[in-house]
Amino acid sequence: MKSIVIHENRKKSVMNRHPWIYSGSIKSADKNISDGEIIRAVTVQGEFLCYGFYNSRSKITVRAFCWEEKTIPDENYLQQLVKNSVAKRAKILTEETDCCRLVFSESDFLPGVIADFYNGFISASFNTASAQLYKKIILDALVSETDSEGFIENTSSDFLKKEGISEIKNISGGSIPDFIQIRENGIIYDADIIQGQKTGFYADQRSNRRIASGEASEKTVLDVFSYSGGFTLNALKNNAMHVTSIDSSSQALDRLKSSMSLNGFSVQRQTSIQGDAFQTLRNLQAENRKYDLIILDPPKLAPSRHSLNDALKAYKEINLSAMRLASDNGIIFIFSCSQAVNIETLKEVVRWAAVDAGRDVFFLRYLSQPEDHPVLATFPESEYLKGIMYSVI
Ligand code: SAH
Repeated sequence: MKSIVIHENRKKSVMNRHPWIYSGSIKSADKNISDGEIIRAVTVQGEFLCYGFYNSRSKITVRAFCWEEKTIPDENYLQQLVKNSVAKRAKILTEETDCCRLVFSESDFLPGVIADFYNGFISASFNTASAQLYKKIILDALVSETDSEGFIENTSSDFLKKEGISEIKNISGGSIPDFIQIRENGIIYDADIIQGQKTGFYADQRSNRRIASGEASEKTVLDVFSYSGGFTLNALKNNAMHVTSIDSSSQALDRLKSSMSLNGFSVQRQTSIQGDAFQTLRNLQAENRKYDLIILDPPKLAPSRHSLNDALKAYKEINLSAMRLASDNGIIFIFSCSQAVNIETLKEVVRWAAVDAGRDVFFLRYLSQPEDHPVLATFPESEYLKGIMYSVI
């Protein structure tokens, strides 16, 4: 196996099991390492540090996935990692829930690999050179471990550009229906894993949907950035009086409509508004609307640190709008899936909005991602989903 040597003053981070090794940390590398290949990282003295995937074209040149020298990191080992990942999720898949994340990238020691299970089908993306190189092995292992009927790859070219790969051929296997009926928290969804966003459904909000729906009984609810209606349907199941769902995607709202009927919810209890959420929130204020429970689940508003300032303004604007739309003692949930925004920053933004709204706001609960999106302690970047539940008096 080929080796790379880590600069003496950079070895600490590798020893602390952070999986990213940047190009600047590498003192030298053996000749002719192919992009995607598995390498050993060693210290200047030649001591073993970790095994990792190498890609000369990525700023993160090595993604470490094993820190035990005696391991043999071959294809069998990759299959074993898939087995471990699937076994970890056994408790999540129940009568009530037949979809979840099976592989969460570095947190499952398979960097670049995201795989979701949808009631007998796998939807996956392979976002690094190594993930692309080993994708067939990983998909075969996923299909056999879960007894799935088929798989579809949903890799986006945006990720692969950073890896120096300009063209992707998304692969599929078995027969994938246009829409797959899945179940989560006992609710049926008509999921679109072919054309839908990401891998087709946002499984990372499963536990937060349950928590938010606990506040919904007999309430009027506003689900902002609803996508296919995860929070909407949980609220309706928990006896919400009425839910208004806002999203810019008409396809997503079509899925919501179809799931409404699959669950037997009366259309009178729900209204969809297709459009820009920021503008729609302003319109609803102009109409003097009030809601008892408001969920704000925007897309990644800060894709990088450079966009953080603009993102914070946007987070503040939606919180301020929600505070103005909240009835007395209303409850608001704000989520952020931007890595660049931590929970303290999110609290700060809510504080600014509370001052501008002139209302008393109480932080009730802090929220994160469920256990099928594991947070690896030595990799803080894996904790990407943050949320606050707060009340407005
Ligand atoms: N709450 C959803 C997930 C939201 S993902 C769930 O539980 O499944 C973010 C959503 O925001 C996507 O559906 C996307 O279509 C929508 N979106 C992105 N920009 C928007 C905008 N400016 N206005 C309204 N919706 C937007």
